[in-house]
Amino acid sequence: MIYVKASDQHGRGVFADCDIPAGAVLVVFKGPLLRREQVEPGSYHLQIGEDLYIGASGEADDYVNHSCEPNAGFRGGLALCALRPIRAGEEIAWDYSCAIDEEDFPGFPCACGAASCRGVVRSFRHLDPATRARLRPWALPYLRDRYRG
Ligand SMILES: [Zn+2]
Repeated sequence: MIYVKASDQHGRGVFADCDIPAGAVLVVFKGPLLRREQVEPGSYHLQIGEDLYIGASGEADDYVNHSCEPNAGFRGGLALCALRPIRAGEEIAWDYSCAIDEEDFPGFPCACGAASCRGVVRSFRHLDPATRARLRPWALPYLRDRYRG
């Protein structure tokens, strides 16, 4: 359903190899469980809790890029799902603010090209309330629990 290839925008990306219906599970993130102090600077990692991360799996889930207008989001734990129908050849992207929530996260510049691009990818806690409310249904469960309504 998905495959990794060179992306125009980033080093690598994940793409749909067929038309995918809304709601389909695209990939389930996995990797070694890490505390923050165990995360190697610059290495691939995904925050999944207050002080809980997963490291690289070496598989497609490591290469899904960010978009401020994503076509994928989390539903049911670490399962990345299609938020709308995705066409064959389209790049799969999710909004990284749906996972990151470090107080001292410096943010990184975004060049996703979306009309609604926020310009900087920030921790969930540092988004404006309207953006947080919009993203919350597709954020990781620890963020949905922490930021209720
Ligand atoms: Zn953007």
